[in-house]
Amino acid sequence: MSDCIFCAIAGGDIPGRIVHETEHSLAFLDVNPLAPGHTLVVPKDHYARLDDLPAEVSADLFRTVDELVPRVEEAVDADAANVGINDGPAAGQEVQHVHVHIVPRFEDDGGNPIHAVAG
Ligand code: C5P
Repeated sequence: MSDCIFCAIAGGDIPGRIVHETEHSLAFLDVNPLAPGHTLVVPKDHYARLDDLPAEVSADLFRTVDELVPRVEEAVDADAANVGINDGPAAGQEVQHVHVHIVPRFEDDGGNPIHAVAG
């Protein structure tokens, strides 16, 4: 999609701090991190909402998230992570290209798990 920032990152048209790539998915660091290591996992092709994802793309996306959560935690020495999706503008989705937030969390970091994902 021509005016989609995540499509531009996936297509290499603008730089992203890419940390992992699979056949259908791309993971990169959030430009405005809620915590060190805040990572976004997106489908390479444009889908606005979770319900739009073909089964193969959805499987690849969530398998990638599953694999990356412990690796992201380890990379920043986190104790846990919030993993979440804002699915639709009314839920706080600002970029209309499906993305899964992996937000590392630390003991006593004082954050609110819901707000940590919603931003
Ligand atoms: O779930 P939501 O749509 O609100 O989150 C969008 C996320 O995309 C934000 O965390 C924002 O910092 C991130 N973003 C980014 N790179 C951009 C634009 C937005 O990492 N160029």
